Amino acid sequence: MLHPDIETLGAAALRTLQEECLRDQWAYLRARSAFYTDLPEQISLDALQAVPFTDKEDLRASQASAPPFGTYVAARDDEIIRLHRTSGMSGRGMNLGYTARDAAITAAAGARGMRAAGLRPGDRVVHCLNYQLWTGGVTDHLILEAAGATVVPFGTGNTRGLIDAIRELGVTAISCTPSYPALLSKVLREETDLQPRDLGLRLALFGGEAGLDNDAFRRGLEDTWGFAVRNANFGLSEVLSILGSQCEHTTDLHFNAADTVFAELVEPVSGERLPLEAGTTGELVCTHLERECQPLVRYRCRDVVTITGTGPCDCGRTAFRFRVVGRTDDMFNVRGVNVFSTAVRAVVAGLPDLLSGHLRIDLRGPGPYDRIEVRAEAAPALPAGRFAEAAAAAEDRLKRAIGAAAAVVVLPYEALGRTDHKTSYVERHP
Ligand SMILES: [Zn+2]
Repeated sequence: MLHPDIETLGAAALRTLQEECLRDQWAYLRARSAFYTDLPEQISLDALQAVPFTDKEDLRASQASAPPFGTYVAARDDEIIRLHRTSGMSGRGMNLGYTARDAAITAAAGARGMRAAGLRPGDRVVHCLNYQLWTGGVTDHLILEAAGATVVPFGTGNTRGLIDAIRELGVTAISCTPSYPALLSKVLREETDLQPRDLGLRLALFGGEAGLDNDAFRRGLEDTWGFAVRNANFGLSEVLSILGSQCEHTTDLHFNAADTVFAELVEPVSGERLPLEAGTTGELVCTHLERECQPLVRYRCRDVVTITGTGPCDCGRTAFRFRVVGRTDDMFNVRGVNVFSTAVRAVVAGLPDLLSGHLRIDLRGPGPYDRIEVRAEAAPALPAGRFAEAAAAAEDRLKRAIGAAAAVVVLPYEALGRTDHKTSYVERHP
């Protein structure tokens, strides 16, 4: 079961603990899993490097052939107490099962993240994520309870009713998406005489969207609402609902789950393991150390992260800290440099006088590529006579920020399509 002192455990003691947990997990997998059939008999954290990766596509195929849980289910039906389905942002949703032990560990490990983010017994926290099927609803609700807070289950919708509930029930904290406060303040303005600070919230626990490692975004929200803003909820439902969270000292995430998930960093293209030390950037690969229902070995998370610290944080926690750089789905290679579409977008968004921020990245052929090819829209007021200047400025910024050559073509404002669903910024041409 989870280690009571995990949050302050030193590196050597943590390694010993992880080696023990991995050996037990391995014996369980070899006895129970129809998916991991050719695992070596002996295992260690180092020997794990020779074991093949598991990819999301493997899990999808496995669930298609053996619904609902796939052949990687290792628990019997009568041991499974909860069934979730992921939202399926890229492709079909996946089914997740928990045994009672999986559910207890998920709650206890997630509660660490919530406490690191500042949630305390005595807080009344309103949980405003969708309770339908996915883990953000009921599982995160139970995580908030495990942190010792009083949880008010609200879900999504009925924002006006939420405002009344917050005031009437003495709610002190809110758990929601980072984009929700914008809607909340609109309803406050249009339907009440209240200001955001009148709600009396002291803490906002966010997750599920990017942007929270941006100090300006976080401070802007804090100034408006008077609450502390924390990303309390970095996770992958296939691995663990909450793997990382911010504390009050840093906008980096702490990896809070090292006694139940072993994290590796690998070079995204070669798959070679990288040292887990400050400054290293690589794809996160996770192996369950204690999982009964759907244990995974060397699961490629597709999140590329940079390690920012490994010694104790100012909060006292010894967990390594990291920032999410991008997704391997959005990554391409330009003359040896791994480039993320998110990084290109950030550079273009940094030139608002010249460019609207709307863009497409064109990838011709399988790569690697000689340069980043970008079509970017001009800012609304920019005359056509200045498009060449805007292109040159963007190329220069991209070269300096990313370290790769860029070729930017500037198009008139609104030349690129708009959509109300997720835009694909990368266009691949055969
Ligand atoms: Zn900390």
